[in-house]
Amino acid sequence: MTSTPGALVLFSGGQDSTTCVAWALSRYENVETIGFDYGQRHAVELTVRPPLLQKLRKLSPRWARSLGEDHLIDLSLISKISDTALTQNVEIAMQENGLPNTFVPGRNLLFMTVAATVAYRRGMKLLVGGMCETDFSGYPDCRNDTMQALENALNLGMASEFKIETPLMWIDKAATWKMARDLGGDALVDLIREDTHTCYLGERGTLHEWGYGCGKCPACELRARGYRQFRNYCA
Ligand code: ZN
Repeated sequence: MTSTPGALVLFSGGQDSTTCVAWALSRYENVETIGFDYGQRHAVELTVRPPLLQKLRKLSPRWARSLGEDHLIDLSLISKISDTALTQNVEIAMQENGLPNTFVPGRNLLFMTVAATVAYRRGMKLLVGGMCETDFSGYPDCRNDTMQALENALNLGMASEFKIETPLMWIDKAATWKMARDLGGDALVDLIREDTHTCYLGERGTLHEWGYGCGKCPACELRARGYRQFRNYCA
């Protein structure tokens, strides 16, 4: 049983959310994770989650003690009610409104709201998400203002005192890699490089210096560029 209020981390199996799990583990005694099955085109994101959590536990005895339950929630309704390149088999492209068609409207709002419902049940007050306004591809639900407004709405609507924490909000991808190294050394960087999944196309054939992926989709490009910048800073 969770004895003290802990942190519930939105954990997709990607670079950002894995860094957020490590960030939470470095601060809090009780850390749980939550992930969502929403009919992603490539379920590889979901398959990397359990081994990642196991390997995070092996990086530190304290992390092993603090990392608790993982909640996997079925949100397949998203693919039924929205039309997006992440859930439909269509080319990734820009839309007329200036947003890429990988944008799933309301996704982060829904994820955070469901996370709050689970946190309420678990007696947890902290909700941690990897939203980032710096590299946010224009996704409006990654904005700090959006998350602050949602925190207010959740606290009003659930008569609670949730705090949404977004440790990556104002940093770029290179700084996210650096944060991982500061939190867990090269072992954590290597774990994120080899075991997390970011590629929109679900490609895991070739291990590049920055990890697995097609190398061409927007998610891979962002990740690869950030990794090279991180390595250049460190060189
Ligand atoms: Zn890719």
